[in-house]
Amino acid sequence: MRYEDIPKLATWKNDTSVLRRSASGSTLNKIDADIDNYWKSYSSMVKRNLLTDVNSNIRNWENINGTTVSFHPVVVALKEVITRKLRELSPSAYRYRQVMCLGFRVGCNTVTDEYFRYSPNDGVDMRKKCDEMMHAIRCAQGFVAASGMDSDETLKIFMAPEFYFRGANGAYSHDLVASILPTMTGLGMGGNAYEHWLFVYGTAIAASEEEFTCCRVCGPNPNTVEFIRDPTSRLSATGIHKKTQAVCKTNPAHPIEMRTYGAEVQNVALIQKGTDMHMVVKEYISGIDYKGNQVNVIEGKGKNRIVKTLNAIAPQGSNMSRIASKFQDERMGGGVFTMDGITFGMEICLDHIQSTGAAGRLGPYASTIQVLLIPSYGMDITHHSCVSGGVIFNVDGRGAGTSNVVVKGHTGVPITGTSIAAPNTGGQIERWGPFPIPRRG
Ligand SMILES: [Zn+2]
Repeated sequence: MRYEDIPKLATWKNDTSVLRRSASGSTLNKIDADIDNYWKSYSSMVKRNLLTDVNSNIRNWENINGTTVSFHPVVVALKEVITRKLRELSPSAYRYRQVMCLGFRVGCNTVTDEYFRYSPNDGVDMRKKCDEMMHAIRCAQGFVAASGMDSDETLKIFMAPEFYFRGANGAYSHDLVASILPTMTGLGMGGNAYEHWLFVYGTAIAASEEEFTCCRVCGPNPNTVEFIRDPTSRLSATGIHKKTQAVCKTNPAHPIEMRTYGAEVQNVALIQKGTDMHMVVKEYISGIDYKGNQVNVIEGKGKNRIVKTLNAIAPQGSNMSRIASKFQDERMGGGVFTMDGITFGMEICLDHIQSTGAAGRLGPYASTIQVLLIPSYGMDITHHSCVSGGVIFNVDGRGAGTSNVVVKGHTGVPITGTSIAAPNTGGQIERWGPFPIPRRG
């Protein structure tokens, strides 16, 4: 028996109906839920996360029920199609035994606590920082080669701190943030020289103004208005209305106005391995993140350009936002991602200690995470949301910048890093490891 594609949930349930009579409930429920989610997801990263978890849960199921399960043709066929699909969904599929961590220690604010920038022009600032990052990566590459401990079975993880990419206003435009990964690719970071490197280019900040419509008389609340068809937008007596208009629910004669909630701030970690790219959005905003908790948003172009100073508000879908997320599951486009068969977790700064539980944003996923990455500004490693032996790597941009590695459960001689100054940059590279990659749960 062979599956051409991952079976739909109904097919899978039907094919395993005999096994289900003696199956262990919770493991099978997880497999069912992930197969169902697989068919609801559109991103190849999400599909990779889910199939990797199905694989683990099949192993758990086999451990509980033994050869009745592992030799069953349906289970064998599912494992085979998952291996095939994972290959299709991954641009590369290397097998790494160990990781080496390279922290780019660089301060993200000036000594007077201004946002560090090369230019008041955000575009110039972004390109200069990409250039500085490239020099830091080249330095790290030489440092790894000089260690005498490198091999193709060693994944090199280079990470810069939170807030590396932001300019004079505290935030870039969305377009500028979207051009960072292509710029780094253009500088060679997606090429063969770095096929065994995973880059985390720190985080970048993008802001956009969030507006709402309300009644000027009844108050600044979006519930004061309703949207009705605009009678003047009807092209013919029987035609459709092209537009809607806002009117006060209490009195249609009341004037309507636009108000602003503030600037929605997106703080995203930019991740690249070869042609594979991923972004993780930070959920929590800290009081030390933005001066006065405000950012400037630039609107318009040329002489129509205006700068608005707005309160920083959390991104949509985050735990702090007024707009709830469609998915609470961190594997569905959140802080859990799978590359080359390794499951990574990422918590950006405050996400490490807040969010869904006392164990941080990724606490509930600890049993699957092999490498936990924490780009931050003013944060230490406080807890260990990963498997035993998991590598926890933190790079912090406060002061002159620091980096740290904790291996969960490590005893004996303390783990230390080795630093060198990185030419053509304002910082240093600190090398940690190599450390063996633990098995995932
Ligand atoms: Zn009104």
